[in-house]
Amino acid sequence: MGLETLEEQQRRALAEVLDAYPEKAKKNRSKHLGVGTPEDDASKTCGGVRSNKKTVPGVMSQRGCAYAGSRGVVWGPIKDMIHISHGPIGCGQYSRGGRRNYYIGTTGIDAFTTMNFSTDFQEKDIVFGGDKKLNKSLDEINELFPLNNGISIQSECPIGLIGDDIGAVSKEKTKETGKVVIPVNCEGFRGVSQSLGHHIANDAIRDYVFPQFSAEAKDLVSTPYDVAIIGDYNIGGDAWSSRILLEEMGLRVVAQWSGDATFKEMAMTPKVKLNLLHCYRSMNYISRHMEKEYGIPWMEYNFFGPSRTDESLRKIAAFFDESIQAKTEEVIAKYKKMYDEVLAKYRPRLEGKKVMLFVGGLRPRHVIGSYEDLGMHVIGTGYEFAHDDDYKRTTEEIARSTIIYDDVNEYELEAFVKKMQPDLVASGIKEKYVFQKMGLPYRQMHSWDYSGPYHGYDGFAIFAKDMDLAINSPVWSHSKAPWDNN
Ligand code: SF4
Repeated sequence: MGLETLEEQQRRALAEVLDAYPEKAKKNRSKHLGVGTPEDDASKTCGGVRSNKKTVPGVMSQRGCAYAGSRGVVWGPIKDMIHISHGPIGCGQYSRGGRRNYYIGTTGIDAFTTMNFSTDFQEKDIVFGGDKKLNKSLDEINELFPLNNGISIQSECPIGLIGDDIGAVSKEKTKETGKVVIPVNCEGFRGVSQSLGHHIANDAIRDYVFPQFSAEAKDLVSTPYDVAIIGDYNIGGDAWSSRILLEEMGLRVVAQWSGDATFKEMAMTPKVKLNLLHCYRSMNYISRHMEKEYGIPWMEYNFFGPSRTDESLRKIAAFFDESIQAKTEEVIAKYKKMYDEVLAKYRPRLEGKKVMLFVGGLRPRHVIGSYEDLGMHVIGTGYEFAHDDDYKRTTEEIARSTIIYDDVNEYELEAFVKKMQPDLVASGIKEKYVFQKMGLPYRQMHSWDYSGPYHGYDGFAIFAKDMDLAINSPVWSHSKAPWDNN
């Protein structure tokens, strides 16, 4: 019998993982696990997996809640607004600036991203209602931080359960102060994951930020080259390294959502010529709305790794005239010299190394290209909170047969890793120490493990160095992966 192919190995691993389950759980989980290949029909989900379904209660999922999706992802990085977590302190503390959304400004004066605001609910607030406390907190905020450009109220679970009317409080306070106060009903129990929180947050922007459009945009003198970056949260400076490229190719970036964003820039976005969408999952709703309401087209792009960055720059340039296209070729030529040097240094050290990913948003597919550029082989990937359209977009990104796992639980991911024996696991914060303690090189791919940026050509140089440090660190010679011990 010949050697097992990678695909056969993956299908065997999948069958063995499922075999450990009782019949009902096996039936449920088999719909969320599969093996995808680049030859698969791209109109179907990669690996045939189903997604965006409720996690079985009691299972150790890596998902977050709707509040996390709204407060932590979409609203939190808008730097000149204050985002108050309305409810008990626990959820609020967890959401405090952990995503490393970089911003320019003076913290506590005109920028507030890394600060933590909470109404700090107690038992009596649950019994008697929290509207008064919220009202008082909003007054305190305005007194202590007069340069804030608005407040968003991010509801935690109890607010929806006790039926407080944050909409009425917001309306009253807006009238009283003349500053925008935005109610966001993103209670954690809504939906099946943080994904609904993104959607609710997008809807609140539509309803409360865009009505300010005419006022904020009246002084903006448009150019034919105005664009907005949508769905880049400036983690470790990602949006900055992206913006540099867009500006070098002759475009004017009017707003970046929502990393290092201001309320005013966001309100002016309906005046741009093209919306550039990086994280499709969290911001496709508002991009579609702007297309329908203001006629602004949107385009997805991928700034991870030089191959995809080259491709994306050319795709964006094709929307504009020949002058932009010519400048874009100059930009690509300029950076090619730099990234060729990066590849020459790191590719020989990383060539053929196997990677398994499990992340959220766009990364399970978008970062595949940067690993493949370094000669590394992505053999497993999956999303925490994707929908079918994300899995459909994944087929075109995979370079070989790949295990696909949707909302993978702790048991499954550990079992897949043990069976497939990757050289690197690149995943979220919660899984990091499980694998490091197993003796496996690991990179945290939510907030870049205190590093970054990873977007654009500058970011790729840092990404390559980080992957080399993770895999080739001498520390691994002092510990062994479980399969090496056998
Ligand atoms: S699910 Fe509810 S209680 Fe838990 S973190 Fe989210 S908002 Fe807070």
